[in-house]
Amino acid sequence: MSAPGGTSSLHPPYREVVLATANSHKLLEVRAILGDLPIALRSLEAFPEVEMPDEGDDYEANAVAKARAAARGAGRLALADDSGLEVEGLGGAPGARSARFAGLRLDPGQRNARLLEALVGMAPSARRARFVCVAALATHDGEVVVARGECVGRILEQPRGRGGFDYDPIFEVEGRGKSMAELSPEDKNALSHRGLAFRGLKDAIRARL
Ligand code: IMP
Repeated sequence: MSAPGGTSSLHPPYREVVLATANSHKLLEVRAILGDLPIALRSLEAFPEVEMPDEGDDYEANAVAKARAAARGAGRLALADDSGLEVEGLGGAPGARSARFAGLRLDPGQRNARLLEALVGMAPSARRARFVCVAALATHDGEVVVARGECVGRILEQPRGRGGFDYDPIFEVEGRGKSMAELSPEDKNALSHRGLAFRGLKDAIRARL
């Protein structure tokens, strides 16, 4: 049986935890990253009453605000992340505005094409880039713990690979010679910014179950 938010039914001692996102890719990744914890992770689809705050330009402030709003609104332990791609030749943009780069109406392929266009003619060093993720845990009574993860690499000249989501096909992971979209989900989670950030929260989550 499938429950709202996309998890099959689970029995105690699994504890329901909210992931404050509507992004199904993030939900799948974080479920796998935290797969060894006795939790049933539900996205905001299962909690339509939760209102998400407006986002600013600071990963940590955004992640904490989302986790707090979800914990308060759903009355449960809540997790959130705020993440983005920082490109040297673009002065660190799009950063915390990655989901909105070049306008909200573009699809991921169009957004990647715009980013690649912006780097044409720039020095190779302009392609240096990193993915950043700040993950936050919030309890329903307002306690917050945060952890950060980064993954360093470079922006490719052309997209490569079919896995992952959004910027993954144009980001080559340092030392791997592969784009993030050419890695298996397990390999991506093992080295990604999101994998590092959420693994950094594991002890804090366990301690509050
Ligand atoms: P957020 O939901 O405000 O954290 O937006 C993060 C945005 O950063 C996403 O919508 C993507 O555009 C980008 N992003 C973050 N993590 C990843 C990733 O693992 N792969 C590809 N793009 C990512």
